Amino acid sequence: MRIKKLKLVGFKSFVEPAELRIENGLTGIVGPNGCGKSNLLEAIRWVMGESSAKSMRGAGMEDVIFAGTASRPPRDFAEVTILAERSDDGDAATDGDQELEVTRRIERGAGSAYRSNGRDVRAKDVALIFADAATGAHSPALVSQGRIGAIISAKPQERRQMLEEAAGISGLHVRRKDAEQKLRAAESNLARLATILADMD
Ligand code: ATP
Repeated sequence: MRIKKLKLVGFKSFVEPAELRIENGLTGIVGPNGCGKSNLLEAIRWVMGESSAKSMRGAGMEDVIFAGTASRPPRDFAEVTILAERSDDGDAATDGDQELEVTRRIERGAGSAYRSNGRDVRAKDVALIFADAATGAHSPALVSQGRIGAIISAKPQERRQMLEEAAGISGLHVRRKDAEQKLRAAESNLARLATILADMD
């Protein structure tokens, strides 16, 4: 998967609609301290489904919404869209589309909602889309400030998680959990059926 564009509005310091094109090769973002460089990386993690407000440097998830300044009132919503190109190899969850557009929007008091190529989807679906493409909100490829030290000193279990993500199999864990839940429900239905049948004998 190759990220081609990031669109933001009302997200943290990006109060006005902003678009960042990510061309082939290396893209550098430069600017003075506090201008919003880290906010851009956070926007990528957020649209990929980040659920921890703390890792967005906030107390609650609504803290990603533009909070206002001395001269500008706060906003009621934040929206981030990521445009990507999916490659065939490794992207198990693709449905034939090569272009992927995922949007996450949060409104004050109403929580987050996701859309994928114009359709409403669940957070879980978004996590699967990115996990199958060997990326996601917790991908080791997204390295925030101070994370390099943490990666070097990671425990074997955490390292395994990184390798699984790099191999694009972390989506399988989510599917396995789903399958196990369905299996347990089917087993309990079968047990109830057996009781009913026994009562009828
Ligand atoms: P540095 O180079 O120091 O790491 P940076 O360019 O990475 O800085 P960020 O940390 O991305 O900067 O941005 C911090 C700025 O974003 C601060 O000015 C902060 O006030 C602003 N900011 C963060 N959250 C919000 C919000 N919800 N509403 C308005 N502004 C916000």
